[in-house]
Amino acid sequence: MADGLCSICGERLPGPYGLFTDGEVRCTLCRRFEPPYVKAAAYGSYEGGLRELIHLLKYDGVRPAANVLGRMLTDAIVPLRPLFADQPVLIVPVPLFPLKRRQRGFNQAELIARTVVKLDPSQRFELSPVLHRTRETQSQIGLSRHQRRENLRGAFAVTAPEVIRGREVLLVDDVFTTGTTASECALVLRRAGAAKVYVATVARTLKLETQSARLEARPAAMTMAAAS
Ligand SMILES: [Zn+2]
Repeated sequence: MADGLCSICGERLPGPYGLFTDGEVRCTLCRRFEPPYVKAAAYGSYEGGLRELIHLLKYDGVRPAANVLGRMLTDAIVPLRPLFADQPVLIVPVPLFPLKRRQRGFNQAELIARTVVKLDPSQRFELSPVLHRTRETQSQIGLSRHQRRENLRGAFAVTAPEVIRGREVLLVDDVFTTGTTASECALVLRRAGAAKVYVATVARTLKLETQSARLEARPAAMTMAAAS
């Protein structure tokens, strides 16, 4: 794992924590609220070329971009692999609301997840789209942590609990923003009987990095999975 990141959610750690992180160090949120997932991994920061590639897929409908993003996600999963038990891991894409999926024509998380399953050399991943979005949710932008959780409460359901009962699940999405979606999905999966939930996204926004980049107006150097 790269230095200076929360060992659970991957958020960049401030000051002294960022400088002296050896092993298990948690950000304030992960210390205060135990996340329902074991660990979240991401390939890189949601900016520049990576952000453009995700937009190419989601908003321009360039489906081959999912293959590239899937390869990146495969790299991001490498640090999680030693944590998995010996049985196959179920890959669950974060779902879109059915209407949105119809409008877009696909769910980007599912396309990325398919590539991961296809590329996996150990053939230990099984695609299990058991999560369902039960209602449309408003944008999370500008909401407080509490409001974000309220916004997503009851928005996800597991369609086939018998499939995930006692199993290890890898939740896959394109972007990890505040972690509220990942946490809510992980909670629903755990309640439905999943033994453990891991999270992997292609990109993630780093709140602290965004702040410091604004304050110091310096280009933010991003390593994460690429360097680990
Ligand atoms: Zn954290």
